[in-house]
Amino acid sequence: MKKKTSTAPKYIVITGGVLSGLGKGIASASIGRLLSSHLKIVPIKCDGYLNTDPGTMNPVEHGEVFVLDDGGEVDMDFGHYERFIGTDCKFGWNLTMGKIFKSILEKERRGDYLGRTVQFIPHVTNEIKSWIKGIVEREEADLAIIEIGGTVGDLENQFYIEAVRQLRREVGPNDIVYVHLTYIPIPSGVNELKTKPTQMSVKALNQLGIEPDIIIARCAEYLTPKIKEKIALFCDVETEAVISGPDVKCVYEVPLAYELEGLVATLHKKLGIYSPPELKRWRELVETIKANIENPKQTVNIAICGKYTALEDSYASVVEALAHCGALLDAKVKVKWVDTDNMESTSISPAELLKDVDGVIVPGGFGARGIEGKIDIIRYCREKGVPFLGICYGMQLAVVEFARSVCGLSGANTAEVRDDGKEVADPVIDILPEQKTVTEKGATMRLGGHDVIIKKNTVAHKILNSDSVRRRFRHRFEVNPDYIERLEEKGIVFSGRASDKRIMQIMELPNHPYFVGCQFHPELTSKLETPDPFFLQMVKTALGSKKR
Ligand code: GLN
Repeated sequence: MKKKTSTAPKYIVITGGVLSGLGKGIASASIGRLLSSHLKIVPIKCDGYLNTDPGTMNPVEHGEVFVLDDGGEVDMDFGHYERFIGTDCKFGWNLTMGKIFKSILEKERRGDYLGRTVQFIPHVTNEIKSWIKGIVEREEADLAIIEIGGTVGDLENQFYIEAVRQLRREVGPNDIVYVHLTYIPIPSGVNELKTKPTQMSVKALNQLGIEPDIIIARCAEYLTPKIKEKIALFCDVETEAVISGPDVKCVYEVPLAYELEGLVATLHKKLGIYSPPELKRWRELVETIKANIENPKQTVNIAICGKYTALEDSYASVVEALAHCGALLDAKVKVKWVDTDNMESTSISPAELLKDVDGVIVPGGFGARGIEGKIDIIRYCREKGVPFLGICYGMQLAVVEFARSVCGLSGANTAEVRDDGKEVADPVIDILPEQKTVTEKGATMRLGGHDVIIKKNTVAHKILNSDSVRRRFRHRFEVNPDYIERLEEKGIVFSGRASDKRIMQIMELPNHPYFVGCQFHPELTSKLETPDPFFLQMVKTALGSKKR
C-alpha cells in the first residue's frame, strides 16, 4: 500500500442511472486504477440488501462471492477493485444494509440511543457516514472511492445516497466529487445518440439533493462534442466533465478510455489530487488482448466445467484469470462452458464434450448436484493427459476420482453428499474437524488467506519457485487424513500443505502433462500484470500440447 499524502482525504462517489448492468464496478475500479500510482485508495461498496454479506447467497442469484485475504465474503465488485487497483481490500469496506442495521440494533439494545427514537434519518445515515469515515481514518487513506449499489431511484439504496449527500457538508465541497454513470442509447432506426434517459436520471439524482460533477456516459461509441455539450447544458456539468464510457472489447481497456477522455485531469481539477497514471505495461497487455480477440496468433480452448455455468458471473474471477494468461502468452483463450449437471440426463460423454478442448478447469462448488459429471470429466483428463486444474471442489473431486479409479475404492466420495441423503462408504474428502460443531451457515467456512507450504521437487514448487505462498480459501471439507497414505502410495503427490502440515492444500499427479488441484482459489489473486502461476502453467501446457 502506498503511503498517505499529507492532505485531507478525498471522496469520489459513484452512482448509477438509467439501467443496471452498466458496469459501475468496473467504472469505480478504473477510476481507482488511474489514480493509484501515488495515492492510498480505499474502495468502498454500499449494497442495499439485508444479508450481512453475499456468502450465503446462491452465485446464480448474486454472482461470484469474492473472498478477501481477511476472510471476508464480499460482492464480486471487490474482484474488480483488487485486480485494477492492486490493493488488498477488507471485509468492512463492503457495507450492506444487513451490517448497518445489525450494528444499529446492537447499539439500541446496549442503550447507546437511550431516551431517543431510533430513526432512518439521522441514525441510519449517521451509521453509514461513520462507517465510511471510520474506514478512511483507520486506513489513513488519501482517497475513498464509494460505489453505491443499484440504480438511482431504487428504494433500497436511498439511505446510502442520502448519507453521501450529507457527507459533502461534513468533508467540504472541495474534497468530494460525485460521478454519475449513465447510458446513452442509439435506438435502431433512429441511429442517433439519445441523451434523454441521462437527463431524466440526473434529475432523479438532483431530487435526492446531489448534483453530479462528472457524468460518465456508457454508449456503443465515443460521444461527439455536440452530445457532450448537450449533456453539459441539460445536466449542469462542465463539458469536459462529460466522459465517454464506450463499449470496449476487454474490461481492462476502460481505464485507458477514461484517460483518453481526460478524466484524470478533470478529477485533478476538482479535487487537486494529481497522481499520474502509470499505464505502460497495462496498455501493452490490453493491446495484446485486443489483437488476439480480433486476429488471434494462437487460440487455446479451455473448458470450465460446473453447475453454475448458466451464469458466467458465478465464475467471474476464473474467467479473468484466464484472460490474464492470454495476455501474457499472447494467445486467445476461448472459454467453453460445460454444464456438468446436464451430463447425466443427456448421457453425453466427456470425450464428446471435450473433443475440441485443450485444457480443463473444474472450479469450486457445493453439494451433490452435478458432481458425477465432474468426476467423469476429471477421469477423462487424467487418463488422456488433458491439462487439468481443479479448484477447491475441483481438487476434492479429483481426489475422489483417483480413489475410485486408482485405489480401487469404488465407494469413495466426499462426505458433503451425505447432506443430500447419499451414502458414502469411503469419505476420502471429509469435513474439517473444527467444522463438525458449526451450525450457523454465515461466515463459518475456513475462509481467507492462509500460508501454503510447498514441497520441493514438485510441479507446484517448480511453477511457484518458492517454499511458501499465501492463497485464499473458502471450504468446509478437506482430504481425509485417514486416506492420505493410501492415496500417496498409488501416486498422488500432496505438494502443498497448511503450515501445521495438517490440511492438504495442493495435489498433483506426476507422469501427466499438468494435473494439479488446489484447495484454495488461485483465481482470486490473479492480476493482469501478474497472472496466477497455477493458471498460467495450465494454459501454457494446453497451448504446448495443442502445438504438438
Ligand atoms: N464444497 C467444498 C467444501 O466446502 C468446496 C468448496 C468450494 O469449492 N469453494 O469444502
